[in-house]
Order: sequence, then C-alpha cells, then structure tokens
Amino acid sequence: MPAKGEKLQVIYEGIPASPGISIAPVHVIARGFSSPEVYEITENEVEREQGRFTQALEITKRQLIELQSRLKDLAGDNESGIFEAHVMILEDRSVVKRVQSTIEKRLQNAEYAFYAVMQNFLEAMRRIPDPYLRERTADIEDVAERVLRNFSLEADTRPMGPDDHHVLVAYDLAPSDTASMNRKHVLGFATEQGSVNSHTAILARAFGIPAVVGLDAAVIDIIALTPSILDGYTGKLILNPDPETLDRYRRLSLDKERVRNSLDAMRGAATQTVDGRPLTVSANIELVDDLPLVKRSGAKGIGLYRTEFLLLNAEEMPDEQRQAQVYSRVAREMAPHTVIIRTLDAGGDKLPVEALTDAEPNPFLGWRGIRVSLARPAMFREQIRAVLRASAFGKVAVMFPMISGLSEVLRSKDMVRRCMDELEKEGIAFDRHLPVGIMIEVPAAAICADLVAPYVDFFSIGTNDLIQYTVAVDRVNPHVAELYRPTHPAVIRLIKRTIDAATNNGIWTGICGEMAGDIRLTPLLLGLGVEELSVGPQQVPRVGQAIRSLSHAECAVMADEALKHPRSQGILDLSMALARKHYSELLD
Ligand code: PEP
Ligand code: MG
Repeated sequence: MPAKGEKLQVIYEGIPASPGISIAPVHVIARGFSSPEVYEITENEVEREQGRFTQALEITKRQLIELQSRLKDLAGDNESGIFEAHVMILEDRSVVKRVQSTIEKRLQNAEYAFYAVMQNFLEAMRRIPDPYLRERTADIEDVAERVLRNFSLEADTRPMGPDDHHVLVAYDLAPSDTASMNRKHVLGFATEQGSVNSHTAILARAFGIPAVVGLDAAVIDIIALTPSILDGYTGKLILNPDPETLDRYRRLSLDKERVRNSLDAMRGAATQTVDGRPLTVSANIELVDDLPLVKRSGAKGIGLYRTEFLLLNAEEMPDEQRQAQVYSRVAREMAPHTVIIRTLDAGGDKLPVEALTDAEPNPFLGWRGIRVSLARPAMFREQIRAVLRASAFGKVAVMFPMISGLSEVLRSKDMVRRCMDELEKEGIAFDRHLPVGIMIEVPAAAICADLVAPYVDFFSIGTNDLIQYTVAVDRVNPHVAELYRPTHPAVIRLIKRTIDAATNNGIWTGICGEMAGDIRLTPLLLGLGVEELSVGPQQVPRVGQAIRSLSHAECAVMADEALKHPRSQGILDLSMALARKHYSELLD
C-alpha cells in the first residue's frame, strides 16, 4: 500500500526499441506546437497562476480583435473573419474551466496546464475522421501558440524539465527529432507511435539511448515531471515507481554495466568463431558525428553509411564539393578499414529528397532509393564523383539501395564508369578498383541474386526492407508489428539464396539490417554463411563476443535444420538455443 500522499505506480507497456534503463522524471511533448516550460507550484500559488492564465487570454483576445480590424481595412470581411473564429476559441468556457482546474489539480504552472489541456483537445480532434475538423486544428494551434507567448514572464521560474536529465515522452518522433536530440539531457524516450524498425528506433540504438515505442498510453495523459523508469529491454514506462521497483532497476542497471565493461575489455579483438571462421563486424552510421562512437566500438569498418541523413535540416543534397569533404573525412578516419557509402536512399519513411507535386499513394512502393538517383542523373553524378574522390583518402566502396533487378545495376555502374572517366581526365585522384555492391532488400533482387552477382563485388542484405517487402508488413506500422518476423521461413530462404548466389560467383555477402545486431540470431546468420555483419555502433562489442563464442560448424548444422522448418517461432527457437548455450550472459 502506498503511504498517504504517495503516488501510485503505473506501468505502461510498449515495444522495446532500444535496450537500456533510464531513471529520471518524464518530460512530455505533444504534436503541433512546442511545449512551454513546466514546474510545480504550491497550493498557495494556484490563484496567482489562474490569474496569469486569465490575463494571457485577455491580452490575446485584444491582439486578435485589433488584427481583425486592421485586416478588415485592408482585405475586407471575408479574410478578417478568421480572427473572429480565433477569438471564439478563446471564449470557449469548457476550455477555460479545464485549464483552471488542471492548475489546481496538477499543481503545475499555468502555461503548462493550458498546453496540456489544448493538446488533449487537439488530439481528440485529430482522431475524428472529419477533414473539416482536422483542418481546424491548425487554427487552434495558432491561437494556442499566441496565448503561450502572452504569458507574463514575472512568475518565478523553477528548474525546468527539458534542461535537466529526463525521459522524453512524445506522441511520435521524426528521425530528425531523434538525430538532433540533446543526448546529454535525454536519457531515454517513449513514443505512442513508431516501431522497432523505424529510423527513429535505429538512431536510438545507434546512440545507445534506451527507447520504447508503440506505448499503450495516450501520451497527453502523462503528467510532466512524474518520476519514471524507462525499460528499453522489455518495453515499459513505469511512472511513480515504488521503492522496490526502483531498487530492482538500479541493480539491473549495475549488472548490465558490468557486462558492458567486460565487453569493452574485448574491444578490437579479432572476430572469428571458435573453429576459426573469420567474420567482419562493422558499423552502420547515419551522421559523421557518430564516428568517435564507431571508433570506440572496435568496429572493423563501416558497412553502411546512410547518406540520406545529409538531408537532415537541408532542403537538398549538399553539392559535390561538400559531399566529397564529408566522405573523405569518414574514409580518412576509418582507414585502414573499409567504408561502404550507400548512395541516397530517400523516400518511404525516410527524408524526402524533394517535395513532390502529388503525395504518393504508397511511398514504400514508390519513388525511393536508386529510383530517385537514376531519375536525377545530375544529383546522382555529384554523389558518385564525391564518393570516388573520397576513395583517394582511404578504403571506400559504393553501394546502391533498393535494387530490384539487373538493369538498375547496369545503369548505376555506367554512372560510376562515366564519373571515373571524367575524374581521370580532370586529373583528380580516386581508386580505379573501388568495389561496387548492392543492397539486397527487394525480394526480386534476392530471387534473381544469381543473375546479378556476376556484375557486382558484394551483396549487403538490408533485412529491414527485405522482411517488409517479403511478408508485406510495413516496417513502421505498429498495428502490424506482430507480423514483422525476421525469422519468417521465406526471409531466411531468401537470405540463403542470396548467399549461395554470391558464393557461386566468388563475392561476399553481409547483412546491414537490424537483424544483424540481434544476437539471438547470430547463430542462424553465421550458419547461413554471412561474412560480414554491420550493426549499430553500440551493438558491435556484443555481436563480436557472440561470434567468438560460437562454432561455425555447429551453427551450419542448425541453419540447415532451420531452412526446413515451417514456422518463424521454431526457427527463432533453434537459433536461441545455441545463443543461450554459448552466451546466455549477453542476452537481454
Ligand atoms: C535495410 O533495409 O535493412 C537497411 C539497412 O536499409 P534502411 O534501414 O536504411 O532502409
Ligand atoms: Mg533499406
């Protein structure tokens, strides 16, 4: 029983998206407009805060009436009518009453109470399938933002959530929000939307920020500053944790840290199985800022550099010169290891490369990856030239995303050859033998891998997309997350088929999708015959240690059995049995 005045512990369940534990108060951000600072007030301060709210409303109303009359002189009744509607929003008694009572009940400052009430209101409206109502949310956001600006600043400001350590709770986070997150303050995050394979989750794993997605709570009901534990291992957000829970998580956190430290000691050790089969463990990167993390991880190269992240905070891809500088820096810093630069993979759930005149009805099956590059030869050329120029400063390979068949490979290679000829004529240094590889992430490419293999130097299997397209399950849709199964028999058969085609043609196969970093599956992937695993920098030491604990011969026998198995769970169990047998201490 909680003592009097003590808040009850509440546990929300979600999908574990990035492992780790964070213990800190929550900070809640919602959709639409940015959140104001939040702080607690005493009961004696309730009236003052309510007064501040009334005052902010009055100021806003005066401003709107003045705007309305100015606009009427300039543009007439029609245009100025919009401000009349805005004033009406402010006069809605139910909103005003709810804000006043929220201040009193939550004992939080007026601007935050107003923000929380408005967000609740907006969220309810967004969920009504009426286009007129949905459009009106923009008006309400506009007015709400104006009110927030009109709060007087004289209230004493207490420590704010966002600048301190906190667990961020949000309706959804775009990859750009995650990439630009202040990693010193955000100890972890939980979102109502999202899935394990979204780029937001991938970034969280890369940064080592614990994360839970698909939370079974309406985020807006969560009160800012509530003490919390975020469990990125099992996918839980625990609010007001009781002392026993806190104690258990503190101990768990220490245990995990011990394992991490022992792994750190092995960093840089060769990754080969106990029976002597070598495997390369390299890292995936999105931003150049990740390089120190990669170097610390002991990764033997970069197996996937997602260059579309250069579009973050930019309208278009940087020019050749700028790209050449960035790629050359990565090549130089990673030498003597190889850096595989993937050409732009924009579209789908990623960053768009340009605004389209018509929204695509099905972006995942639309204008994505190599299709964009081949349709924009000037942009493609700049990127290939930049990659080639970087190859003079280290070991560089190029890789094309979303390949569906041979003609795309040949057209892309033709661009590489033309750029090589140009650079040669211009006397600019580059590596003539730069390896050219492709992602195998469209089932058509996996099925035709034998036809394509003679034309490339390596395959890198993008399991995130390969699974999505093979089992027809959107990788970022939480409603179908249950059906997204990396060990689906069809998926492992495609992986096997790809590896066989590569082996028969004397080229290597790696895996750079998230499956590569899941150590429950390392025995299966090893047994199927992959030669490289490219994973988030945080996962490098763990995957390396898993490989060093396994016997390739034993894994190959298990993989043969898995290939005959009819069910995803059965295949997962086979792989898990070896993982448990050889490195149970590494499993989360
Ligand atoms: C993949 O699809 O597995 C992959 C590595 O590429 P991305 O996640 O960037 O689509
Ligand atoms: Mg992909």
